[in-house]
Amino acid sequence: MPDIHTEKYQTYKADDEAKIEQEFLKGTKDQDLGVYCDLFSAKSIIEGQDGGVVTTLLVKGFEEGTFDAAIVVRRMEGYSAEAVVAENINEVLAAKGTKYLKVNVTKKLRELISQGKKRIAIVCTPCEAKTARKIQQTLKTDCQITIIGLFCFEAFDAAKLKEEITMRLGVDLDKVEKAQVRQGKFMVHVDGKEYGCRIKDLDGAAEKACGFCGDFTSQFADVSVGSVGCKQGYSTVIVRSKAGEKLVENLDAAKETVDKQEVARLAKFKKERAKKSFLALNSPR
Ligand SMILES: Cc1cc2nc3c(=O)[nH]c(=O)nc-3n(C[C@H](O)[C@H](O)[C@H](O)COP(=O)(O)OP(=O)(O)OC[C@H]3O[C@@H](n4cnc5c(N)ncnc54)[C@H](O)[C@@H]3O)c2cc1C
Repeated sequence: MPDIHTEKYQTYKADDEAKIEQEFLKGTKDQDLGVYCDLFSAKSIIEGQDGGVVTTLLVKGFEEGTFDAAIVVRRMEGYSAEAVVAENINEVLAAKGTKYLKVNVTKKLRELISQGKKRIAIVCTPCEAKTARKIQQTLKTDCQITIIGLFCFEAFDAAKLKEEITMRLGVDLDKVEKAQVRQGKFMVHVDGKEYGCRIKDLDGAAEKACGFCGDFTSQFADVSVGSVGCKQGYSTVIVRSKAGEKLVENLDAAKETVDKQEVARLAKFKKERAKKSFLALNSPR
């Protein structure tokens, strides 16, 4: 039986992780949530996917001059989505809401760095947050990068998701006004009506690579944000660095506590799934 803790089975070596934590993060290391210095839930007056915290942090960063560009994800034709660069608050607001797809945002990060941008914010899923941190670690310039990581159990392939949603819910994904994953369900809103199915039933549409990712809470981000562990309409916020602390300071939002066990439960579950996926690769059939 192969040992999944050997370097062969890690995209990041254990000492790489430790270096990143030392160099960029602040706080105590929690086995399930990673390094963090603050944990709370919040609801902003800006209406977003959940508590609108990500958009509020980006707006705040532009107002305070912390960012001169932010990489966000906008919905395009149908349910497709693309990484775009927001250079002002209106462009940040236009990109609110979750698109449950895997979007390559770090390509835009490399472009912005080579254009000479100096204060960049990037919103990303855990896999992309790892890449963004690796890019930052190798930078030779004085470019400041702030990573806002999203919680993510898995992302979907747009074409396969469209097929599944048509088959299971009888609605066209391209016409969906809002999609929401909550409490094991995938819910969509079309023409004022809500439709939903178990997220498990959409397994066939999930990106295969997600099964090998063991990071639920974007452990390398400056601030991580998700919907698990808090009241509906709120966002769970994990602050992981000095840059993150500065960004959440005096946040204009109602604050509440977090059900940490619930976040930890999903984080463990995702880690276990990744281990099993790697083991299955090497099991005799
Ligand atoms: C693929 C995916 C799966 C997720 N799964 C979970 C989950 O299982 N459990 C959970 O608690 N939370 C999950 N989330 C996070 C959750 O859906 C919200 O994004 C998060 O709670 C922030 O809410 P908000 O109201 O603060 O966001 P908002 O203020 O609405 O801002 C959302 C921001 O995310 C950006 N964005 C949207 N889609 C993407 C994308 N695909 N890649 C990168 N950036 C994007 C937008 O441009 C915007 O800046 C997932 C997010 C994604 C993208």
